[in-house]
Amino acid sequence: PSAMPLVSVNPTTEQEIERHPLHTGREVEHRLDRAASAFEVNRSRSFGERAARLERAADLLEDNAPALGALMTEEMGKPLTQAQAEAEKCAWVCRYYAEHGADFLADRAVETAARKSYVAHEPLGPILAVMPWNFPFWQAFRFGAPTLMAGNVVLLKHAPNVTGCAEAIADLLREAGFADHELQVLRVDEETVGTVLDDQRVRGATLTGSVPAGAAVARQAAAQIKPTVLELGGSDPFIVCADADLEKAASVGCTARMQNNGQSCIAAKRFIVERAVLDDFQERLVENVEALTVGPPTDRETDVGPMARADLRDTVHDQVERAIGAGAVAVAGGHTLERDGFFYAPTVLADVDPGTVAFDEEIFGPVASVIAADDAEHAVALANDTRFGLGGSIFTEDLEKGERMARSLEVGCVFVNEMTKSDPRVPFGGIKDSGYGRELSHHGIRAFVNAKTVWVE
Ligand code: NAP
Repeated sequence: PSAMPLVSVNPTTEQEIERHPLHTGREVEHRLDRAASAFEVNRSRSFGERAARLERAADLLEDNAPALGALMTEEMGKPLTQAQAEAEKCAWVCRYYAEHGADFLADRAVETAARKSYVAHEPLGPILAVMPWNFPFWQAFRFGAPTLMAGNVVLLKHAPNVTGCAEAIADLLREAGFADHELQVLRVDEETVGTVLDDQRVRGATLTGSVPAGAAVARQAAAQIKPTVLELGGSDPFIVCADADLEKAASVGCTARMQNNGQSCIAAKRFIVERAVLDDFQERLVENVEALTVGPPTDRETDVGPMARADLRDTVHDQVERAIGAGAVAVAGGHTLERDGFFYAPTVLADVDPGTVAFDEEIFGPVASVIAADDAEHAVALANDTRFGLGGSIFTEDLEKGERMARSLEVGCVFVNEMTKSDPRVPFGGIKDSGYGRELSHHGIRAFVNAKTVWVE
């Protein structure tokens, strides 16, 4: 199997785009070697020199957003408008760390009995990044921008179906002046990921993806005493209280579930609704979902395109059928679409109960599950009744109550009257099976640095 090339298939047309051969053992060794020497270059640069390169990368991302967006849409099917917005968001994270990185990593003086004592933040070396296909640019930049700003270098093992995006990211950073192979693509299979993790030149790893993939990479890294950050799956609650603005909740909820063709780790997946407003909210949610335009993602008016791969679509349909078998009712969608491409009808499942598939498993596609709660307290208990702990949303007109409920949710981020989203200024990540460690903000840039105590007596 190691001779199998990486194949990207256009999920809208089902036509093969390109086959990328895997790197040979020698090519991988060459890249590891270059990563080690690139680290020596980047660590010796000043913050200003790194920041200038990130600013240049941001300019390139903005200038080329239409072409980069088209590449994402071709490889993984997200609507073109959302793909261009993704390229622009990557520019934002580059500028954010260009502006704030030096401050986040500045020496921090500490009062002690010493003549002088402080904490320095030093880079660790080449870091392996195993990334998924759903936000092919954003995931890579969310990690890459702070990591390069800190003086580390990146080995990017991207998902096979977005290899074109991976190569475009490496090209763009090279053009921005990270010329010495500071972000290199590794076209490798899982077995070689293990070899790379074992290599002493590699000093840490991050993985965004499924729970089994995260566990596999973290286990292997732990055996070599290397730090890891894991951003894994989620089954985020979206709580609708009886006093919520139902029109807003239904419209935001629809976007939170269906954007990116329903394939987002922080999508609203479980709509937990107080019984008093259940029918009203559900009707509005269905109205919003049925008003979505499903079609080719290259069309500007398309809201929902195909899923990224045939097997992912089949998994979602299997989950929906099992949910219906367990008592749920499809009040919208619930089927694949009779057309070319890996399309799945935007779906709303009503009468979902805890202990059934649509409550317990993550559904990584355009499927909303609606669950009844007796009251706000019951809603929080249901929200926490999951192995996941990534994000969550609460809709209520009583902001104090909303904040109280927010503090009781077992998640890494929670939004009152807003959908869960990532923003460079605030940390991003999960607890429980959703992973550990944080990206973005000052937390993200310190994930792979040595907080070194320097004490001068
Ligand atoms: P996946 O199978 O876990 O793939 C993600 C990446 O991990 C790919 O590059 C994949 O490469 C690699 N991988 C998988 N198994 C591996 C192993 N044993 N060793 C080394 N690498 C391995 O994820 P997916 O099913 O395509 O994506 C959906 C999942 O990712 C969902 O659970 C979703 O919630 C999660 N996700 C989380 C976030 C977040 O920020 N928390 C963001 C996006 C997605 P290969 O395909 O070559 O194996």
